[in-house]
Amino acid sequence: MTTNEDLQKRRDAAFARGLGNQLPVYVERARNAELWDVEGRRYIDFAGGIAVVNTGHLHPKVQAAVAKQLDAFSHTCLMITPYAVAVELAEKLIRLAPGPTPKKAIFVTTGAEAVENCIKIARAHTGRPGVIAFGGGFHGRTYMAMALTGKVMPYKTGFGPFPGDVHHAPFPIAYHGVSIDDSLEALDRLFKYDIEPARVAAIIVEPVMGEGGFYIAPPAFLQALRKLCDQHGIVLVVDEIQTGFARTGRMFAVEHAGIEPDLMTMAKSLAGGFPLAAVVGKSGIMDAPAPGGLGGTYAGSPIACAAALAVIEAIEQEDLCGRAVAIGEMMTGTLLELARSIDAIGEVRALGAMVAMELVRNRDPHAPDPDLAKALTKRAAEKGLVLLSCGLYGNVIRFLVPLTASDAIVHEGLAIVAEALRELTGAAVRAAANG
Ligand code: PMP
Repeated sequence: MTTNEDLQKRRDAAFARGLGNQLPVYVERARNAELWDVEGRRYIDFAGGIAVVNTGHLHPKVQAAVAKQLDAFSHTCLMITPYAVAVELAEKLIRLAPGPTPKKAIFVTTGAEAVENCIKIARAHTGRPGVIAFGGGFHGRTYMAMALTGKVMPYKTGFGPFPGDVHHAPFPIAYHGVSIDDSLEALDRLFKYDIEPARVAAIIVEPVMGEGGFYIAPPAFLQALRKLCDQHGIVLVVDEIQTGFARTGRMFAVEHAGIEPDLMTMAKSLAGGFPLAAVVGKSGIMDAPAPGGLGGTYAGSPIACAAALAVIEAIEQEDLCGRAVAIGEMMTGTLLELARSIDAIGEVRALGAMVAMELVRNRDPHAPDPDLAKALTKRAAEKGLVLLSCGLYGNVIRFLVPLTASDAIVHEGLAIVAEALRELTGAAVRAAANG
């Protein structure tokens, strides 16, 4: 029998060490919110391939749509001889994107590429060079996306120089004492110290910071950014790569703030596990680059487009936005209860089913505990649960369970979290001694 250990040895010898690896678990099969490894062990999946399978592994609709497309053709290149499934998906995304302004779309292959293209489009439209992003944010691993990413280790270490005229402002995080006003004042100072607003092409923001720690941008902050961009003719780019497709209880997280972005990025759960990303935005901005300036060989793969249409149908027919709210309430209820007896849980936060708990020492927001987060993901895996961490300090546990998971699976996974945390913090022992 092939074992995880054998494969891990081969993996370590075959791959460059820069390619991260969280668990030595080699997947053989996956369905909905469960995985089975090569040794036949079962895992509950609270990672969802990093927010990619909001509709679960191999949703029957997605599987059927992909099978049908594979019977027809797999690739011709959207830029050469296009196909209906891509047109239909673009029309659907335009319809789903928030706000009344007429919109257009482009397809690319990865999230980072979508981010890159937003900056290309914003620069072509405005004729300006500058871009502003937020500290702690993550936008991808290609050069512009990396420059926009607000975390040095491990994403930027050793990789410079980066594209110029990229600036960072602090993201409002109440738990860490950064208010909306603090962030807006910092932007104002940026306009005084570094770059005049008339030279800024775009501001890019995640409506809920993903890799950075699941910090929710307050609606008032996003509304203020909208106003600021309108005032100065800056393109507002909302990065929905991790937050999109029902995760937060709305199709897109920015809907909670009631604003219309100029450009939006979409990827991850868009195509239920097939590589597809999109930029959707106001037509007057999207049409700025000349024909041929945008695209890519695999951009808008017909298989991925077919999968995406099935994903959207599943979200709408199964009310996965409503399900996200219910899962979020279930999870936060259990985690908040757990936080009453475990001092290491500094904060539990959620927007729909984008749920996180921040691990700290002695309830001190300024004392992150990444070691506990690491130990928890390891212990959880030993007990059959795949968990992910995130955050500037790696001390946040994020929950990205498929929205198609049953209540029973969600509770089973949460019970593992509770048991593992109690074991690691000695909370059960303390509770017993106290009572
Ligand atoms: N933006 C955000 C908000 C993301 O979460 C990610 C991926 N974690 C990216 C961009 C980059 O996407 P990809 O890995 O597909 O390039």
